[in-house]
Amino acid sequence: MGDAGALEKLLADATASPLALSRALTAHFGIDWFAWTYDALQMTLERELNVAVPATTMSKVMASLAVCTTDAFWLQWEHFHFLVQALNGDVPDFKNHRELSVAQMMRAVTLAEQFRADLGKLSYTPQFSDEVARYVAAQALAEAVWYLPPPLDFAARYASGLRYHCNDCGYESEVMFDDGLCDRCVNRFDTSRLGAWVPDPARLAKGWGSNIRYLEKNPTAPVARRLAEVQASPGRTLQENQVDVCVGKLLGALLYAKHPAVVGAST
Ligand SMILES: [Zn+2]
Repeated sequence: MGDAGALEKLLADATASPLALSRALTAHFGIDWFAWTYDALQMTLERELNVAVPATTMSKVMASLAVCTTDAFWLQWEHFHFLVQALNGDVPDFKNHRELSVAQMMRAVTLAEQFRADLGKLSYTPQFSDEVARYVAAQALAEAVWYLPPPLDFAARYASGLRYHCNDCGYESEVMFDDGLCDRCVNRFDTSRLGAWVPDPARLAKGWGSNIRYLEKNPTAPVARRLAEVQASPGRTLQENQVDVCVGKLLGALLYAKHPAVVGAST
């Protein structure tokens, strides 16, 4: 049994980190609470600890539970969308589509990775699906952020609009499979293998398809360079140009996502 007083205090604190809440619940109940429903958990907390739990806290707790026990956050954009809201202290809004900010997505991904790390050998950290990566990139672009450093780097190529040009056949396309091959030269979309989208082994054996060069619709190098420069010398004044505006948004988002109070590093 953990410290009931500390848990009680956290449950009533609307600003408590989901990670701190989840750790306190596990310290108190063991991992048994992972199997409880919303109603069972709320009733147990109210009866046992005699504390009225705010809806935003229940929302954070249930989102933590979902991230610990299912992979949907990593696989389906709808789950990602609502869990990001909940992990950021909002009650998910199912009636209106609320755009997610880069800061909110960074915070949620940081938390989700820490939840899985806390579980150690009981779990693992899944890879994000293309579906979620494309959704993250679309939300970032709506905020005029096209360079995505960790923890959102899994969506970086979609935000930058990564394309390739084949120096052999001249074909140009979005990078969809990221294996360094020209889809046309390796006959990836051949109808006899339709749906599998794998390169033709005979063409691969001949070394076809690898003479490509990458292009970015939204160049990321100037943003990455400027971000590193500003991070290395805080206090540097940002300018009113597209790159610096993007850098300013990233600095705020990174600070928000990594703040010790957010990830509960001290708990
Ligand atoms: Zn080609």
